[in-house]
Amino acid sequence: MSVCLEHNFELDLIAQELKKIKAKRILVQLPEGFRICINLITQKLREHIGEDLEILYSLNPAYGPCLVDEYGANEVGADVIIHFGHVEYPFYRPSTKTMFIPVEFQAIDVDKVRSLLNTICKENTRVCLVSTSQHIKLCKRLEEVINKCQVIYKGVVYGCTTSDTENCDILVVVAGGRFSCLSQYLTLLKKEHNLTVYCLDPYANTLWDPKEEIRKILSTRIWKIHEALNKQRWLIVIGFYGQSRNELVKLLVNKLRERGFDVSVAKVLKIDRESLLNLGSSFDVVVIASCPYLAFDFYDLDIPVLTIGEALMIINGDMSRYIYPW
Ligand code: SF4
Repeated sequence: MSVCLEHNFELDLIAQELKKIKAKRILVQLPEGFRICINLITQKLREHIGEDLEILYSLNPAYGPCLVDEYGANEVGADVIIHFGHVEYPFYRPSTKTMFIPVEFQAIDVDKVRSLLNTICKENTRVCLVSTSQHIKLCKRLEEVINKCQVIYKGVVYGCTTSDTENCDILVVVAGGRFSCLSQYLTLLKKEHNLTVYCLDPYANTLWDPKEEIRKILSTRIWKIHEALNKQRWLIVIGFYGQSRNELVKLLVNKLRERGFDVSVAKVLKIDRESLLNLGSSFDVVVIASCPYLAFDFYDLDIPVLTIGEALMIINGDMSRYIYPW
């Protein structure tokens, strides 16, 4: 089955809402993996609403719900933005009316996932689940069908938000790929806890222990932090919308300047390797204040590229605990 048919874009519900608010023009935003479904979305919305609705697509970044294309919507005069693939980000409310559609993965083999979870499920153990937006219903179903231990769904998490781990013995991050689980593990390092963390990928039907991968990530990150110590010229890169983080950036700029460092700030919608390479040798350290995990992608550049949390470790002179994301 194709990716488009395996996921629920909730087009009936969207059509009902658009009719209700008499929308004339919409801007549709999809994460890259769902952009192959653009034709299907257009066709289904046309079937429900007809030709009067003008549908425009945004191809600007949509990595998370922190990046709702408000600018694009204003430019084209959209009545509403349909943002697929995420639920609303807790730290940001777009100024344009936005419908967040989680896009549930429907082709799940619940029995396989249940068997995987049963391997770590013991009597009197509380297994907490957190997930990306695609697996909310699956997690709620798992709460019902697993009786060997207590399963509690704690909700959706992002790569920069921390799970609620109260009353949990084990935390299972239900998500495709590795990023969501690894970043969730990293956010927990700044808390005192005795949790065991597992990663469950319901696309690949795998359950794995992230400790070894985290150990490698941390050794690289500590090396990068040490490279940045006492460097003079710092560039802080801020993003748009929910990736602006003005208060944190102000704090960083002030603290770095108090220590006598030179600090510049750059704003960018999408940061990539070329943009950083084009800076040449103008800066000694770059801090990515937009999406924290991006700093990890640039580990092999000549200059250290840090997260906000890593920069704060340097500013506070405290290397005893790794801070992620800030
Ligand atoms: S900042 Fe990054 S990790 Fe956080 S919600 Fe946005 S895209 Fe996801």
